[in-house]
Amino acid sequence: MTNNEAKVIPVRVALRCRPLVPKELNEGCECCLTFSPGEPQVIVGTEKAFTYDYVFDPMAEQEEVFTVAVSPLLSGLFKGYHATVLAYGQTGSGKTFSMGGTYTSAQEDQPCVGVIPRVIQRIFQEKDKGGSCDFTLTVSYLEIYNEDILDLLCPSKDKPAISIREDPKEGIKIVGLTERVVRSAQEMVACLELGNSSRTVGSTAMNAESSRSHAIFTITLEQRSDSMVSKLHLVDLAGSERQKKTKAEGDRLKEGISINRGLLALGNVISALGEESKKGTHVPYRDSKVTRLLQDSLGGNSHTLMIACVSPADSNIEETINTLRYADRARKIKNKPIVNMDPRTAETQRLKQQVQELQVMLLHARGGVAPVLSGTESSENVNNLVEKNRSLQDQNSRLCRELSETTGQAALMFEKIIMAEQANEKLQGKVEQLKEHEACKLDLQNVLVTLEDQELKGKVELMKSLQDVILELQVSVASCPIVGEDVTGGFTAHHALRQAQMSKELMELNKVLALKEAFVKKMCQNDSQLEPMQSEHQHNMHSLQASVDSLLKEKEDLVLALQSAKKDTQHAKLSEQRRKRLQELEGQLVEMKKKMTEQSKLLKLKESSVRGVSKLMSEIQSMKSQRVQLMRQLKEDTEKFRVWKSQKDKEVLQLKEKDRKRQYEIMKLERDFQKQANVLRRKTEEAAAANKRLKDALQKRSEVSDKRRDGHGRGMETAASRVKSWLLNEVELLVSTEEARRHLKDLLEDRKILAHDISQLKGQLEAGGRSAAKIRRRTLIISELESKVGQETPISKQVENLETEMGLRSAQIADLQQKVLAADNDSRAKHRWDNINTVVEAKCSLKILMAELVAAKSAAARLESSLKQEQGNLQDLSRTLAEERGVMSTMDVEHQQQRVELEQNHQEKVGPAQHLPHTPPKPAVRGLERALDQALALDRRPGPRP
Ligand code: ADP
Ligand code: MG
Repeated sequence: MTNNEAKVIPVRVALRCRPLVPKELNEGCECCLTFSPGEPQVIVGTEKAFTYDYVFDPMAEQEEVFTVAVSPLLSGLFKGYHATVLAYGQTGSGKTFSMGGTYTSAQEDQPCVGVIPRVIQRIFQEKDKGGSCDFTLTVSYLEIYNEDILDLLCPSKDKPAISIREDPKEGIKIVGLTERVVRSAQEMVACLELGNSSRTVGSTAMNAESSRSHAIFTITLEQRSDSMVSKLHLVDLAGSERQKKTKAEGDRLKEGISINRGLLALGNVISALGEESKKGTHVPYRDSKVTRLLQDSLGGNSHTLMIACVSPADSNIEETINTLRYADRARKIKNKPIVNMDPRTAETQRLKQQVQELQVMLLHARGGVAPVLSGTESSENVNNLVEKNRSLQDQNSRLCRELSETTGQAALMFEKIIMAEQANEKLQGKVEQLKEHEACKLDLQNVLVTLEDQELKGKVELMKSLQDVILELQVSVASCPIVGEDVTGGFTAHHALRQAQMSKELMELNKVLALKEAFVKKMCQNDSQLEPMQSEHQHNMHSLQASVDSLLKEKEDLVLALQSAKKDTQHAKLSEQRRKRLQELEGQLVEMKKKMTEQSKLLKLKESSVRGVSKLMSEIQSMKSQRVQLMRQLKEDTEKFRVWKSQKDKEVLQLKEKDRKRQYEIMKLERDFQKQANVLRRKTEEAAAANKRLKDALQKRSEVSDKRRDGHGRGMETAASRVKSWLLNEVELLVSTEEARRHLKDLLEDRKILAHDISQLKGQLEAGGRSAAKIRRRTLIISELESKVGQETPISKQVENLETEMGLRSAQIADLQQKVLAADNDSRAKHRWDNINTVVEAKCSLKILMAELVAAKSAAARLESSLKQEQGNLQDLSRTLAEERGVMSTMDVEHQQQRVELEQNHQEKVGPAQHLPHTPPKPAVRGLERALDQALALDRRPGPRP
């Protein structure tokens, strides 16, 4: 086992890609790596491919990683080889996860257990199996932070410093490091746990630092029979990402990039050991603690496995590519790998790329505007319509309010009228009584004339005036008009119409009642006039009867006399006279009988009229009681609705307030959204411009290199111009790449915001679904009271829009990344200066660069001064804005106060206004209908005419 032999052992590289973690998913990140099934190959974006010894896609389990990549090393370990497992990658890529750096014994037998616990398990399995060969195991666990070695198995602070000593016989020795002899797997696991926990303590205190420290867990295996000592280093390296340092320099901040010293040294060691061209050159182990500690393992007789951990998220693409390149170098692969994909995957890939291109084109065509914002014309139309609708709704609600007020007042007035009428009736009755009173019938005038006593006279005069007053009173009471005729309604709203109709019916009933009453009164008057006539008639009848009787008697006498006279001719003349008298009497008799029948007819008429009057009177009574009942019902309903309405009014006020707040919120959101959309559009446009610039620069470079190949080696003049164009193009390329990177970062940030918005909206949607019924009920009430329909677009639509937007953003990101990858090629940077062959060319380049630098610096200075000016302007403007805002807010407060006052006034005014019920008061209506029918029937019946 010589050194030469050991060098033949290649460093094996396993690529491990973890799944997208929740944070990346929340930020809308997409997977930018593709894995070819059955091939240890990974493709970045669409064309850059890398091949390794092993490739583990996101679906790979810890078990698979261990059995495939790690366990072959262990067989070597038992044969006396050193072995090393290095986990490399950016922070968060899964190094600690893969190594098992957070292992606790509670996780035993779980599938997520990493490499170290599995190694421990395997070693003790081997030990138990082997039986005969007896070996001792020792462990140590250390951390390298800031080039200091910390003992993780003895973390006390007052320990002597640990140092590295190189022993010519034993190799690297770490003086002062705890090395614990372990006899069982449990003991070893306890060491691992102890170290992990002290590492964790450190990392929680200084989170940023933990990603910059290397942790090395070392198992030393001493086989007594062969006196062989082999070591297994299990290394969790520091995060490979470039550390951005911000440090104050003058009054400006400068960003610099630093790479962890240990990782840099490790890279150099790897490349010195690996690259054929550097064979035999100095290997810089001493540049860092890690490389010194791993000296035995790297380049010695050690089997080394590097697990390169990467994140598949497109937001990490640059770091991922760095890791892939680093791992590639570690594997000493110089030839370019050929992409071997199966045809279906290739087709999918092609289509995916096409879709992506189309999406980018679409985005550019729209000017980076989300689909929601397109079609300003139609949106204007919609706005107009919405405005119109709103004003109409306002008008409608105002009219409804007025209507309900008016109907409420009308009902109130009706009630008053009825009450007044009742009172009036009572009064009239009283007056009637008074009039009927004997005192009124005294002829006081006569008394006055005949009276002597002055005192008595005065009193009688008083009585007389009272009599007059009573008479007058009756006249005025009788002439009291029935009011409430001019309440009419030109109402539109449904329930107001109902109330109006009811009022009208009531009014008609009132009218009919009044008519009937007047009629009855007149009839009664006529009756009283008829009274003397009747008695006269009766008297007449009696006298007529008497005269008829006497006439009959006379007639009989005459007839007898006539018969006796026939015998006696002497009395011929007399008998002639008697016959004439008889004839006369007969005529009188007939007349009398006629008169009598007439009289009796008249009497009958009178009787029927009296009957009619009494019937009418009873009808009027029942109608009146019905009316009173109706009014009571109306009043009850009104009261109910007053309560209902005040409650609803309160609700409406609350809802209005809510609505106002919501409107404000929506407006604010819209404003924010508009602002955000504008920023997004600008960024997208800028990104598109950067994309184009980069594309142009790339194309120009290829043209220039073509030309250069054609006209190589011409005179000084041509050389100068050639160098100039090449150099300027190179600068342009670098600048535009940098710009593209910046825009990429912006785009990623935007996508994060969009993803956040989407998840929020989705949350709302879910919450909305849960209380959908509640909302529907609420909406019903709102629409009933305010007839306001929701004006915002449904959330699901918004989510869809945002998702489209995010898809486009992702496409643009992928497109830009592709370009940056093409421009930022590793080999190009390396061969850049191969273009300069002569001193003349070098001088030329320097001159050009100097000129460019001066131009750039002066331009920067100019820009800075204008920036300062603009900042000054901005400060002025913001000051003015703040003042205006102050004024606005005070005005707003005043406005609010006024509004509240007005609202209160309005409430007081409307106060007892009534509202109509949902369901019409059925008994009242039925009563009304009955009353109306009766009134109509009365009208139709031909009343007796006096
Ligand atoms: P690092 O040590 O490289 O900074 P971690 O090992 O802490 O990264 O991993 C970061 C996160 O990713 C952790 O939450 C870890 O659980 C998760 N993770 C890493 N690799 C995987 C994997 N293969 N499967 C599932 N989750 C993983
Ligand atoms: Mg870690």
